[in-house]
This record gives sequence, C-alpha cells and structure tokens, in this order.
Amino acid sequence: MIQLRPHHLLCLLTYVGKGYSPAFVNNYDRIAARLNAGEKIRITDKPDDICAPIAGDLTEHCHGHRVITRDDLTARDVGKLLGVDVRNGTTLKLTPERISMLRAAFATGKIRAACKGCQWHDLCTEVADNGYTNCRVLAPHTLPKAAKSGFAGLIDGLYGATLWFRMGGVAFLLILLITQDDLRHALMNLMFPR
Ligand code: SF4
Repeated sequence: MIQLRPHHLLCLLTYVGKGYSPAFVNNYDRIAARLNAGEKIRITDKPDDICAPIAGDLTEHCHGHRVITRDDLTARDVGKLLGVDVRNGTTLKLTPERISMLRAAFATGKIRAACKGCQWHDLCTEVADNGYTNCRVLAPHTLPKAAKSGFAGLIDGLYGATLWFRMGGVAFLLILLITQDDLRHALMNLMFPR
C-alpha cells in the first residue's frame, strides 16, 4: 500500500517527471508505476512515500504549518468531491473514474485551494491546461474507458441493431432493383416521368 499525505492526491495529478532532485524523481516514478498498476493508497498525516528521498533535507518543509494546511485543504476538497472521508488511515484506490473527476475539478480550480503559494503552481496549471497529456500517473491516454451504465449500453445496442437493420434494408432494395427489371422501370418512370 502506498502511503500518501492528502495534498499529494493533487500533486500526482500533474506529475510530469519534475521534482526537487533526481532521487526524488526516480522515487516518484516508481510510485507512479505502482499507482498505474492499481496499488491502493493509505492516507497519512506524516511525510509519505513521495517525500521519502528528501524528508531528511526538508524536515521543516514537510512538517511546516503551510504544508499541514495544504493537507487539510486537500482532505476537505478531495474528500467532498469523491465522497470519501480523507484522513489519517483512510484507504482508497484511484480508479479511472476518480482520476477523471479529480482532474476535471483540478482544471477548473475547484479543488486547488491547497495550491496557493506553492512553487510548482504555474507548472501544474500548465499541465492541466494541456490536458494532462505528459503525466506519469494514470495519464488520460493510458486510462481504460469508463464502463457504460446499463441504460447507456442498452441505447448503444439498440442504435447498433437499427443501423444494421437499415443497412440490410438498403442492400435488399438494391438487389431487387438489379434483379427485377419491371420494378426498376416502374421506379425510373416514377422518378423521371416523360
Ligand atoms: S501546485 Fe503544488 S500543491 Fe498544487 S498540485 Fe501542484 S505541486 Fe501539488
């Protein structure tokens, strides 16, 4: 299980391989691969798996008031959006549907109160504005299409069936016109009366 502090639920949405140091990025890439493989997350209120390579160097940053506020704001906003109580010990899985919801809300700023004053703010905004295309965590082009609801699937099935029915009707009419001279002449007279 991947340990994450709340505000990293936002940061992973726009992670494009940039970070504080090569060790930080290498570690983040490994976490991205685990998330992409479907591993679950456990929320922590301490420096987490993403912080690990720099936690010793940035102790003040990781335990500072600003970062704790960032966690609180994210827990509130993401929790409300996903309908999950985001707190120390909560476990959750980032499904394609959840990632899509989070990214859509992130792009509109709805869940970005925590980003205020962050040094990566402009980069994250640019990534969101560009459709998250180069993200390493569950990039949009890698996500399986969301399963359709039963009703939507039924409508799709009916549409497909009627399309085949109509194509079959046109083919049948063409065969009739080719093989039945009387019918063809009658139709031509109807369309182009002399
Ligand atoms: S702006 Fe900062 S807090 Fe917000 S998602 Fe980006 S890195 Fe995370």
